[in-house]
Amino acid sequence: MKAIVVPEFGGLEVLQLKEVPTPRPAAGQVLVRIHAAGVNPYDTYMRNGTYAIKPPLPYTPGSDAAGVVEAVGEGVTKVKPGDRVYTARTLTGAYAEYALALESQVHSLPPNITFAQGAGVWVPYGTAYHALNQRTKARAAETLLVHGASGGVGIAAVQIARAMGLTVLGTAGSDKGLELAKREGAHHVFNHTKPDYREQILKTTGGQGVNLILEMLANVNLGHDLKLLATHGRVVVIGSRGDVTITPRDIMSRRGSILGFTLWSITEAEDKEIHAAILAGLENGTMRPIVGKEIPLAEVARAHKEVLEPGSYGKIVLVP
Ligand code: NAP
Repeated sequence: MKAIVVPEFGGLEVLQLKEVPTPRPAAGQVLVRIHAAGVNPYDTYMRNGTYAIKPPLPYTPGSDAAGVVEAVGEGVTKVKPGDRVYTARTLTGAYAEYALALESQVHSLPPNITFAQGAGVWVPYGTAYHALNQRTKARAAETLLVHGASGGVGIAAVQIARAMGLTVLGTAGSDKGLELAKREGAHHVFNHTKPDYREQILKTTGGQGVNLILEMLANVNLGHDLKLLATHGRVVVIGSRGDVTITPRDIMSRRGSILGFTLWSITEAEDKEIHAAILAGLENGTMRPIVGKEIPLAEVARAHKEVLEPGSYGKIVLVP
């Protein structure tokens, strides 16, 4: 089979398309024929060796894929050959024609969701659901700022929060991104490249500030976020690419909190809840993965470059 192989950590040039043996499922494992693989920003940090998790080399990137079960190992009862599934992590990497996964890492993909959409399910919706329902216990009638609402996690958060009854404010850096955030459920949208957008956010809340912020770029925004919080407000750091200075008194005066997590560190019980919620959300149409670009697997370097560029529009997926 064809797979992307990373022989050493480094720049885009380390992403190599290779012919490798197709894996065979052992007991408790599932072989998935991949129709689409999701590209997440962390895939690029892992590739260049700056991520907290460093896989043994060589490795094939990717945790998020959607496809059809090709074969199952002994003892697997959850899925059978021919079933449509999405993956939440794999054993052998999603940037390939086939991936081996544990039975617990494959989940049913409802018929109304395309494979390309299915490749944008796990990291974006798992993260957004965990942030809203498990890490912060967001409640209907709260005001939420999705700071970075045009990308994979942001759009998922906008859709979920809107369906939960929150008032949703979202930011993006392009007109296309702003329109998308609005279309997918944001009540108010703001351009985070404009100098006065934070004042506009405060004005929209009548000067009260927001109850909750999901922050996609904390190294740029965290210090400013604290000034946008209402009393008892909380900021959830989802993404950060460096250090930042904050004014601690901004949290003290608001009795505020800064929270953080990584999707890797969720518990088994949280994982189970997330997948049940995702299945329901995909089936009932409250979770609608947005595919911005489909890129051939062989052009993976372009996908890794573009996922870090401004002008996000939902997900970038690779097609083997
Ligand atoms: P993505 O699809 O690339 O989207 C990035 C988002 O950040 C876009 O909405 C982008 O908006 C926005 N952004 C760019 N500049 C910004 C600024 N100055 N202020 C606010 N937002 C800004 O990425 P993603 O998949 O949504 O992930 C977002 C971040 O969360 C990434 O850093 C990722 O690594 C991290 N993440 C963490 C976890 C976790 O477990 N903690 C899980 C998933 C993702 P424009 O492009 O429109 O400017």
